[in-house]
Amino acid sequence: MVRGIVLLGSTGSIGTQALDVIRRMPERFRVVGLAAGSNVELLAKQIEEFRPRVASLASEEAAQRLREWNFSGLEVLTGPSSMEEMVTREDVDLVLNAVVGAAGILPTLAAIKAGKDVALANKETLVAAGSVVMRAVKEHNVRLLPVDSEHSAIFQCLQGVREQDLHKVILTASGGPFRKSTKEELERVTVEEALAHPTWNMGEKITIDSATLMNKGLEVIEAHWLFQIQPERIEVVIHPQSIVHSLVELTDGSVLAQLGVADMRLPIQYALTFPERLETPVKRLSLTEVGRLDFEAPDMDRFPCLRLAYEALAAGGTFPTVLNAANEVAVRAFMQGQIGFAHIPRLIEAALEHHRVVMNPELEDILAADAEGRKYVRQVLGELVR
Ligand code: NDP
Ligand code: MG
Repeated sequence: MVRGIVLLGSTGSIGTQALDVIRRMPERFRVVGLAAGSNVELLAKQIEEFRPRVASLASEEAAQRLREWNFSGLEVLTGPSSMEEMVTREDVDLVLNAVVGAAGILPTLAAIKAGKDVALANKETLVAAGSVVMRAVKEHNVRLLPVDSEHSAIFQCLQGVREQDLHKVILTASGGPFRKSTKEELERVTVEEALAHPTWNMGEKITIDSATLMNKGLEVIEAHWLFQIQPERIEVVIHPQSIVHSLVELTDGSVLAQLGVADMRLPIQYALTFPERLETPVKRLSLTEVGRLDFEAPDMDRFPCLRLAYEALAAGGTFPTVLNAANEVAVRAFMQGQIGFAHIPRLIEAALEHHRVVMNPELEDILAADAEGRKYVRQVLGELVR
């Protein structure tokens, strides 16, 4: 059966790799829709190749330029609800959400409520709105398939494991480019240094998140929601080779792991073809070539973002929403040269301290907390500049 797929964030790192996966299986997938932010040149190339019926761009100016291409039979959407409109179409079976940031929340919810399966790379959605999203998944009886490599690894390890037999999950982290840096050195790192990730080639925001270890913090929260596991049963281990993608420990103490070379096309493909396993162009793992696998404990003193994420998750309610919102604004400010690297966790901590939490939040509470967290950090940034 050919499944209709919509790809949100098609021009990004995950988006382009997903199209590479889809390109190899035309008998399984028909690309119905593609969505991007503003990269109209790349989107147009993708439209030429995959011939979707609908495309959307967050930037109105970019959407206008795409219309001038005059692709026959293509509907071009723009505006705040264009991704929601796209994912709810009748000819869509599966939505791959690979946009970056909280912009992914509403389209994910719209897809779930329309009964579509969702392959989720956009971890910020689960961090900011995990309770609401998981409730919707249950209510509408759809599949939420993890794309993030660690969560895909856990999901793979859990096939055939009874729910009550999961004791703990162990998330691996490369440690990022500053694994060995001292606190003093971390005060002075540049944007270029932070963007040079040792093992993965990814979008800019997640690359900075990997350098601060916030990426792992976000993944702890993501794992909590996906696998319904409490924070004290989620362990993070630094593993610089990025070969063991994560592990699960079961009731009897047995530990299962998923290994492979670092290539996102594998977890992307598994999410799209689950439960089937098909060939990939991904290089096969040679343990003797890798030689050794190292593991060490993360240092939450040098990398306070990881600690803040654990604390926000334990405190619950809208705290993780604010953690995510504050992080998005702080990371952007760092990339624009407004603040130093070590200011990122300080801004997030300040936003969490300032926040008045709502427990058991509804979607409106989450959207309000997200907006409030952003506003607060922008305000502090404004004061810093003055
Ligand atoms: P990129 O920055 O490379 O790509 C982001 C994509 O989202 C682009 O297509 C961009 O469009 C689009 N986009 C951004 N903002 C909007 C918006 N408001 N509306 C519509 N589209 C938008 O990011 P990545 O591919 O690296 O990451 C995507 C998500 O996947 C993130 O949540 C990340 O944490 C997660 N992830 C990524 C991994 C990786 O290896 N890259 C691994 C695991 C998870 P445009 O190009 O036009 O700006
Ligand atoms: Mg990951």
